[in-house]
Amino acid sequence: MANQKIQCYVCGSPNLMIPISRVWRNWMHNPQVAFCHNCSLYFLLPKPTEWEIRDHYQHYSRSLSRPQKGLKQLFRKYRSISQYEYIKSRNTSKQNSVLEVGTGEGTLLGIYLHHGSSVFGVELNSHARKRSLIKYGIPTSNQTYSTVDGSYDIVLMSHILEHFHCPREALRHTAEILNPDGLLFIEVPHSPIIPEECSREELEKYLQTDHIYNFRPDNLRMLVEQEGYEVIALDRAFYNIPFSPGQLTRKKIGQALLQGTPPKPGELLFIGTYMLGNLLRLHRPFRILQSLDIPWQGQGDSIRMLARVGNSSQCF
Ligand SMILES: [Zn+2]
Repeated sequence: MANQKIQCYVCGSPNLMIPISRVWRNWMHNPQVAFCHNCSLYFLLPKPTEWEIRDHYQHYSRSLSRPQKGLKQLFRKYRSISQYEYIKSRNTSKQNSVLEVGTGEGTLLGIYLHHGSSVFGVELNSHARKRSLIKYGIPTSNQTYSTVDGSYDIVLMSHILEHFHCPREALRHTAEILNPDGLLFIEVPHSPIIPEECSREELEKYLQTDHIYNFRPDNLRMLVEQEGYEVIALDRAFYNIPFSPGQLTRKKIGQALLQGTPPKPGELLFIGTYMLGNLLRLHRPFRILQSLDIPWQGQGDSIRMLARVGNSSQCF
């Protein structure tokens, strides 16, 4: 059903499917998820308040077993290395001062620190802030992003934009604190559409996260360009599993790597081979796809973007 009063956050279209689902447990009001037929954006309806989002991340913790934690941390490390190499291969300008929004335990920022950059991070979660200080010696702040000042050569947003109450405000603030020719890196999950790429049941499961928005390359580009940025690279990436175990197993490997879901014995061999191959540097952890149009695979599908502030702002 369509609702004339509600418009898509990115393209403004009223052509919405409401609700496509409902997200349970993460937010007090168990919000519905709307889908825009025009630009394929998913967004929560109504959105949690900024206060609720902040409170959620301040106290966020997941009870994982030691092997699950280890698997997740190793995966994060692979992802961070892959992101660092992606940015470096597409940008030759200086990266002396680096800001990461949503630093987590500091894995990505730790790589920049290791390569001589001066780094600063913003992280709401107190446990993650402690870990980044212990592991990498990186002090981070729990201040609201809009209050961060300074000037940076690069701002990193890895799997963070989809968690903002208002991504536009975050993009506008980023433009204010980037140096001339400074770079914004965004990575977000690439979400599937039904019925072309997955079943409704699979989508319902996929949407059970604390994301306020779920993007696809076109609507992410639209949002960033509306806020006055020039997109200089836009790609899709997913796990570079060096064999073809069948789509269902690939999806299960994806869940195990991303969420720490315990793998079944039959999947352990594939995950073990993937991890060992990465440890021995026999293959790269992520593969950049040849085309943005390759259907969603359910194996860590994500979107990577590099953008810089353009000459003319197209802000509303
Ligand atoms: Zn839209």
